[in-house]
Amino acid sequence: MIKVENLRKTYQMGEVEVRALDGVSLSVERGEYVAIIGASGSGKSTLMHILGLLDVPDSGTFEIDGTDVTKFSENQLAAFRNRVMGFVFQQFNLLKRTSALENVGLPLIYARNGKKTDIADKMLDLVGLANRKSHHTNELSGGQQQRVAIARALVNSPSLIFADEPTGNLDSKSAKEIMEVMSELHASGLTIILVTHDADVANHAQRIIEIRDGKILSDAPNPHAPEVPQVETREVEEEGKGGFSLRTIREGLVLVKQSIRSLAANKVRTALSALGIMIGVAAVIATVAVGNGAKAAVEDQMSRLGSNLLMLMPQRRSRGGVAQAQGTVSRLSRDDAQAIREEVGHVVGVSSTVDGNVQLKVGNLNWSCRVTGVDPDYEFMRSYEPQLGRFFTDEEINSKAMVCLLGVTPVRELFGGENPVGKKVKMNRRTYTVIGVLPEKGSSGFQDYDDAAFVPVTTAMRRMFGRDYVERIEIQIDAPENMDRAQMDILALLAQRHRTASGSFEIRNLAEIQDAVSSTSRVMSLLLSSIASIALVVGGIGIMNIMLVSVTERTREIGLRKALGARGGDIMSQFLIEALVISFFGGCLGIALGTAVGYAAERFANMTVVFTQDSIYMAFGFSAIIGILFGIWPARKAARLNPIEALRYE
Ligand code: ADP
Ligand code: MG
Repeated sequence: MIKVENLRKTYQMGEVEVRALDGVSLSVERGEYVAIIGASGSGKSTLMHILGLLDVPDSGTFEIDGTDVTKFSENQLAAFRNRVMGFVFQQFNLLKRTSALENVGLPLIYARNGKKTDIADKMLDLVGLANRKSHHTNELSGGQQQRVAIARALVNSPSLIFADEPTGNLDSKSAKEIMEVMSELHASGLTIILVTHDADVANHAQRIIEIRDGKILSDAPNPHAPEVPQVETREVEEEGKGGFSLRTIREGLVLVKQSIRSLAANKVRTALSALGIMIGVAAVIATVAVGNGAKAAVEDQMSRLGSNLLMLMPQRRSRGGVAQAQGTVSRLSRDDAQAIREEVGHVVGVSSTVDGNVQLKVGNLNWSCRVTGVDPDYEFMRSYEPQLGRFFTDEEINSKAMVCLLGVTPVRELFGGENPVGKKVKMNRRTYTVIGVLPEKGSSGFQDYDDAAFVPVTTAMRRMFGRDYVERIEIQIDAPENMDRAQMDILALLAQRHRTASGSFEIRNLAEIQDAVSSTSRVMSLLLSSIASIALVVGGIGIMNIMLVSVTERTREIGLRKALGARGGDIMSQFLIEALVISFFGGCLGIALGTAVGYAAERFANMTVVFTQDSIYMAFGFSAIIGILFGIWPARKAARLNPIEALRYE
């Protein structure tokens, strides 16, 4: 079954070369029970590790069932260790804080053949631990632990068992029991290769190979061997086909469960590294929410202005009240407004506008506020549909009617919040009838949009301020794409009407102001979220740090898993899953914290915050990517460890 020739293995210890194996040739047939004996340091373990495919020789040939295994890939070796071989070590090498049953089931995870844990169950029955299955391994005696290790070696029905000083750490009674188990296994058809320095232990075997200083001293049948009723020999099973199935999911869940367990074993450390991710994710969620809120607030304010608006006003060429040159002061009139309405295309609304401050008086209550004279179009252009009463009619404009609309602030101050429609109010000592209450527009900064009163523009011009010109004309255009065109047409029309250069008037496009403001808020929120992303990356580095520590700390465990048949990919996914679990928890907590911070900002700092589902998905995506990205390096480091060096690591 096994055939090796001329195996050599040399260790370099500083200046000294240690020839652990110096030309070993031997072959072992199926069903044999071989003991390798020799003094400590003679090379027994080295030989066993090479025979067990845990280590590679420097030179020599090695065949198993006629197959040259020296050319095997890492994964093929792992599969062989998993299916064909079972290992029993002197130090038991069981996973701590893990039940006997799960320890035994470990090789099944890596076998991928869908065998269930009932095999592990049966194996524990076989080694006489039926009543200790759910005990953690640290609650078992040395002899019991070694039985668990034997059960684990048997679980994938191997054809070869390697045991390196299996009784070395046991008292004589347990040692005797373990050797009985070994003999029974041999009797059931298993091939056993046992390494020991103890002649009594070796006497259980049928053949004894003695080595000294890396060379075979003698190789002979054991005259004291007990009689063994030979049963049929075991055959290696075919490797199960991999593929995605329910089983894959179940194995995945086992991996997740294992990683949660190992993270739970280091609660403080796990919590601290999840904290980094949590802060990062919370920062992203909160800043995105605040940024969106700021954007929404700006948009809201802008929508109060109305859309597609142009504001036409005379160009200011003078400073500090000095009269303009040649006395040709360009002033806008209501006729200009009328001409624009009639002659310029794409115009949907026009309002001449005049404003100033007045003293309002009701009974003995006084209130001074801004009064604006407007045309009826103003109602829909600026969305000023009255919440009570109605807006001006053309009739009232033509007759310069003594009517007004009030904002909620003067209504509160002068009427105590009661419905003022139909009541009288004095403005600059003339009496007006209130016909409506303006909708609430809120405030921005220092400006209270509700502290306002409207009168017909004609009334404001003639009766209130006594002038025949208007301050500006507001024009609404049907669609954004027609704004530029309309703007040019209006300027041309005015130049013609006033016989001046077209530079006498200027037009402001409110959409452009709107764009400028919202792009500023966009830059702000971009800045905030990039700072938040830096926090996330820092959190990721924290995870990587912890994972690297964890890999170093668990080197022996990694070695054991590899010895039991874990491939590089299995180890890699184990550590990646751990990194992912940390960042997942961190991400969840971060979403909660970020949301809380956002609401706190809304509640106590009076900010507008807008949470979107996108930012939640984004935070989750981010933390997953961070987990994978920063987990890959430690995971690869773990996956590349050599099994036997890892097992020796202290
Ligand atoms: P045994 O199991 O028979 O006690 P080993 O096979 O463990 O002996 O070791 C054989 C020789 O190789 C010893 O001299 C030991 O010091 C040396 N050796 C074993 N492993 C290493 C190693 N990783 N590095 C250096 N020397 C080693
Ligand atoms: Mg040894």
